[in-house]
Amino acid sequence: MLLWRNPRLHGPERVKRWAACEEHLATLREFLTSRGFPCETEAVPPSGAMG
Ligand SMILES: [Zn+2]
Repeated sequence: MLLWRNPRLHGPERVKRWAACEEHLATLREFLTSRGFPCETEAVPPSGAMG
């Protein structure tokens, strides 16, 4: 799970959550950080099929 927000649009209370598989997590992180968006990853149990 990728947690991120756009500091230009929203404050810290508006954190978006993107579910992503490990493969796409790196791509999404790169996308967000390249735009200066703060983001962090959160582990989710490997139960469902996501991404
Ligand atoms: Zn994926």
